[in-house]
Amino acid sequence: MSNMLDPYQIKKDFPIFSQAHPSGKPLTYLDSAATTQKPQIVINAMHGYYEKSNANVHRGIHHLGNRATLTYEGTRAKVQNFIHARSRKEIVFTKGTTESVNLVAYGFAEQRLNEGDEIVISAMEHHSNLIPWQMLCRRKKAKLRIIPMDESGTLQLDQLDEMLSERTKMIAVVHISNSLGTINPIEDIIKLAHAKDIPILIDAAQSAAYYDIDVQAWDCDFLVFSGHKVFGPTGIGVLYGKEKWLEEMVPWQFGGEMIRSVSFEESTFAESPQKFEAGTPNIAGAAGLAAAIQYIETLGKENIRQHLKALLGYATAQLGAIEGLRIYGNADKKSAIISFMLESAHAHDIATIIDNHGVAVRAGHHCTQPVMAFYGIPATARVSLSIYNSREDIDRLVEALESVRLIFG
Ligand code: PLP
Repeated sequence: MSNMLDPYQIKKDFPIFSQAHPSGKPLTYLDSAATTQKPQIVINAMHGYYEKSNANVHRGIHHLGNRATLTYEGTRAKVQNFIHARSRKEIVFTKGTTESVNLVAYGFAEQRLNEGDEIVISAMEHHSNLIPWQMLCRRKKAKLRIIPMDESGTLQLDQLDEMLSERTKMIAVVHISNSLGTINPIEDIIKLAHAKDIPILIDAAQSAAYYDIDVQAWDCDFLVFSGHKVFGPTGIGVLYGKEKWLEEMVPWQFGGEMIRSVSFEESTFAESPQKFEAGTPNIAGAAGLAAAIQYIETLGKENIRQHLKALLGYATAQLGAIEGLRIYGNADKKSAIISFMLESAHAHDIATIIDNHGVAVRAGHHCTQPVMAFYGIPATARVSLSIYNSREDIDRLVEALESVRLIFG
């Protein structure tokens, strides 16, 4: 059973919305793809950790040490359940999606890549899932190959099969494009990869909050996401990896917490996930992340998706009706992200003008410069919707855009 979410009710869970914008207008936050706002229970969980449980993890035999360890490892179990991983050992905490991808590039792909090999990514990757592979290819004299997309922002997967060969050592693909909103059919892509025994990483940064993730059913080799895009804190993220790959992978940071034994001559390392978590981790972040997952689960992802689908339909129709406005990214399956340009206005002008009306959108290349190059534009303005947005927010956006049109039209 699904229930429509009430964004007005949800907004009350987020203390940030109780403040006024300097313009005196209500705060209309349409930038959740960059980072989501945080509900009170996430803030409380982090606060509560420092107030009641603060100690270092794993080392303490004392009461507080045990509480901190329970908090931290409890979040690992929560994440395991959230993405349906087989074992807690498959969940590595990092500082975010970016660090997770870099860890796989260094610890896994680098070990398997030789001169002349290939890595395949898509045309719509965030720079975080592009540059680590580009740098790796440069180090190894390997080739980076790109799954092309068409004008609508849909990947041309009919070309993928023939791109893959025994030289392909890794595929890394985004689930939902942060600049176009395209939802990629990653289950099909994973099947194509595995038909040729190629490991595949899924960038779930934009999907983890809203879409059901089942790493076992999907059978992906790696999956990455960030806490701050799932209503959790900044500074904590997740790398999921199949246990067999994490065992094979080498650590890339060395120090406390990740060792089995150390002497001046030699050191041996703990098993995964500890071997990838050198140093004192982000324990307060883990406390916040667990609360964020709890919050999402209480709302229900099915309900969240229904709300976002209805809102996306409304926003697309309202924006589409504005003269001179062009939307970039019209794939059949889209998340609630709309990139657009209006008349001759630069994206930054759009964002600056509508900020005076209390409306927050992102302007720029959204860390996807190749996507901008594909359309031959430097930037777009981007609206990204979330659970606390209502039709009223979109109406405010449309009203604010009218003043952009008056200036530039
Ligand atoms: N991948 C996608 C699709 C994203 O949208 C983002 C952030 O916008 C990232 C990766 C990088 O995430 P982070 O900056 O949290 O590491």
